[in-house]
Amino acid sequence: MPKSPLQEICALLGQAVAGNPTQYMMEKLFVHHGLDWRYLTLEVLPEHLGDAIRGIRALGFRGANITKPHKVPVLAYLDRLTSAAELIGAVNCIVRENDKLIGENTDGKGFLQSLRGVIDPQGKRVVLLGAGGAARAIAVELALAGASAITVVNRSAERGQSLVDRINEKTKTPATLINWEGDYRVAADTDVLVNATSIGLNDESARVPVKLDDAQKQLVVADVIASPPLTHLVRKSQQRGFKTLDGVGMIVNQGAIGFKLWTGVDADIQVMREAAEEFVET
Ligand code: NDP
Repeated sequence: MPKSPLQEICALLGQAVAGNPTQYMMEKLFVHHGLDWRYLTLEVLPEHLGDAIRGIRALGFRGANITKPHKVPVLAYLDRLTSAAELIGAVNCIVRENDKLIGENTDGKGFLQSLRGVIDPQGKRVVLLGAGGAARAIAVELALAGASAITVVNRSAERGQSLVDRINEKTKTPATLINWEGDYRVAADTDVLVNATSIGLNDESARVPVKLDDAQKQLVVADVIASPPLTHLVRKSQQRGFKTLDGVGMIVNQGAIGFKLWTGVDADIQVMREAAEEFVET
């Protein structure tokens, strides 16, 4: 695929690509929709987080995405949270409304939008691998969408229990924890399996320790990992004939939600998907 001007410049500078996939998608969208806007990637040290958030107000930014390690500490500097961000307990997207900064979480919503393309989560039994930030956002949105049960499978019991407690206390969906040791055997009554761990990130051969021998034919397997899109889990699941979702759809959808919140414009999903794929392939 020919390089874009931005990629050419990055190649000259010895960088794979500028910024991150969301920046890359946003910049392409601004051009596509004729908006003279910019999306900047700025690194902020934890001790400067408060100043950085005050900077959003002072500099008149329309909003921001927030990433690790600031997704939880940022709550202290915002005026209000959306109900989902409050339930999740983390913010990845800020929207400025006049002089107020509103904290939203679009990770789980982006995932859900992808999932709805292949299955309605209402009444479905979900196995969620992982209990970190991505898993938390996904679990809350699945519960709000009416999943009938969520089984959290996690290596660290403390993190897993904290997620399960949150879902059981704050939503109507029952959640249970399984301590992840060796291969987890996905039960025949599971409708959706989600890998929300970081296993597979930048490593196409990394195997998620699960056994799919008992799984039903209609199982949907979703991976949050976007780079590479075809993770070991996605490839093996496809070979077995399961429906699969890669992490690119989640990135695209969370980006589209943020874009709409900031600009009021419905993002062209095709432009975003192509940009995201171009980014992860580079
Ligand atoms: P966290 O660090 O908060 O959580 C990581 C999770 O992965 C934990 O549950 C951790 O378990 C588990 N884990 C990591 N390595 C292993 C292993 N070898 N075996 C078993 N479990 C393991 O990360 P995030 O939740 O923020 O992100 C997770 C992934 O999701 C990242 O790779 C990120 O790229 C991706 N992501 C994708 C998005 C998208 O739009 N596609 C959006 C957000 C995230 P434990 O608690 O035991 O340590």
